[in-house]
Amino acid sequence: MQVLSVTPEIFPLIKTGGLADVTGALPAALAGLGVATRSLVPGYPVVMNALKKKKTVHHYPALQGGKAALHSAEIAGLDMLVLDAPHLFDRPGGPYGDVTGADWQDNWRRFAALGRVGADIAAGVVKDYRPDIVHAHDWQSAMTLAYMRYGEAADVPSVMTVHNLAFQGQFGASIFAGLGLPQQAMALDGVEYYGGVGFLKAGLQAAWAITTVSPTYAQEIRTPAFGMGLDGLINLRSPDLYGIVNGIDDDIWNPETDTHLAATYTSKSLKGRKANKRAIEERMTLDRDDGPIYCVVSRLTWQKGIDILSTIIDPVVASGARLAILGSGDAGLEGALLAAAARHRGRVGVVIGYDEGLSHLLQGGADGILIPSRFEPCGLTQLYGLRYGCVPIVARTGGLADTVIDANEAAVAAGVATGFQFAPEDAGAFHHAISRANALHAEPAVWAAIQKQGMKSDVSWDRSAQKYAALYRMLLSKRDA
Ligand code: ADP
Repeated sequence: MQVLSVTPEIFPLIKTGGLADVTGALPAALAGLGVATRSLVPGYPVVMNALKKKKTVHHYPALQGGKAALHSAEIAGLDMLVLDAPHLFDRPGGPYGDVTGADWQDNWRRFAALGRVGADIAAGVVKDYRPDIVHAHDWQSAMTLAYMRYGEAADVPSVMTVHNLAFQGQFGASIFAGLGLPQQAMALDGVEYYGGVGFLKAGLQAAWAITTVSPTYAQEIRTPAFGMGLDGLINLRSPDLYGIVNGIDDDIWNPETDTHLAATYTSKSLKGRKANKRAIEERMTLDRDDGPIYCVVSRLTWQKGIDILSTIIDPVVASGARLAILGSGDAGLEGALLAAAARHRGRVGVVIGYDEGLSHLLQGGADGILIPSRFEPCGLTQLYGLRYGCVPIVARTGGLADTVIDANEAAVAAGVATGFQFAPEDAGAFHHAISRANALHAEPAVWAAIQKQGMKSDVSWDRSAQKYAALYRMLLSKRDA
């Protein structure tokens, strides 16, 4: 089976969040199940620079205002199709915005182009290649499914995966004329959304199946509280909605071989984590002691509940715990955390920035990882935490609820606990969860049992890949029915 994956991010080339981890890891996990994946990605500078041996498989004399080409290449073990459109993608900054973080004004054009090309590939524009399934990720790829639906590939089964419903790709009605879609598409059951054009909305409408990245989030987004205005449509489409939890790339995230760690270890040699804890203390100028260090590796945003965290730092420090925080995001939250670090020298360490290596070290040496998200489609950091014996302390929402087993008395007694959950998402409940963690951390045998149980959790891609493969097969039988 041939799957075309259309994605704006792919690890290890370009990543701003968990989406890249998914699209980077899924192809290898699916390969063992008889599913061959090709990934269509925009030719950002980092992608173009990584293109060594390429074969140009298609030329566009005019694509959204300029010439473009489609190259086929293998990069980092991934079978890629790269959309080389310099007028759209050859620019400094991030994938969606300039160096200041401001969105590019022509994002609709950039990702309409990606969608158009995805649909062309589905329709057979690349010689000797016709995908059986097209799988689009997030709003940036969603127009692929709209172009397929209104073009020549309506009969190709498609999957729309929502990694985060908060990002929808909404634009004014005036862009519609530039999309090159038939007029009938500007309708409630097409791309029209609250008087404008909604890219994700269009994909949700056109997809044969919709997935999101955990069963709990799949339920949550059917409600107004989590649906971000799309709950009505998602409810309508609920017969075709699935929740599949992400896995992690366990070649990259393996404490036994991780080169970012000061010391590698296994569940049988957890003492090895101590050297990593010492390395964290050094790196983040924390006092040296054996009390718990809780880390944070996160975008610093409201979604991630970092404001809630910042309100309880003083009592958490007073409880004897230390905090090691790595992240970047909202300036106000960055400032609040830096102020807390200044207030609590040696007890709170904050690194503002994106640092893949440090994120590994934190998982490998901190006692726990704090994830107070208000909503969390899947979340990867708790999965890394489980794998690394860095006990997750999480809000009971989305994928966090699905992957962490709370260390209540019964679960501890039964030996199944893997972390701590709290609800509702407020300072009181969060602080209480940290207090529970402190209490169990003071009982080394109990803590080690929780760590080991977490390390046993199946967080591999194999399990998730089987579910995607089963979904693909179901869609193929639907097509053939
Ligand atoms: P989201 O995609 O919503 O940001 P996830 O938990 O699904 O949240 O994925 C976040 C990914 O980004 C994880 O791989 C995490 O380790 C990584 N990450 C987030 N912030 C940082 C940072 N400041 N430095 C290094 N890695 C980070």
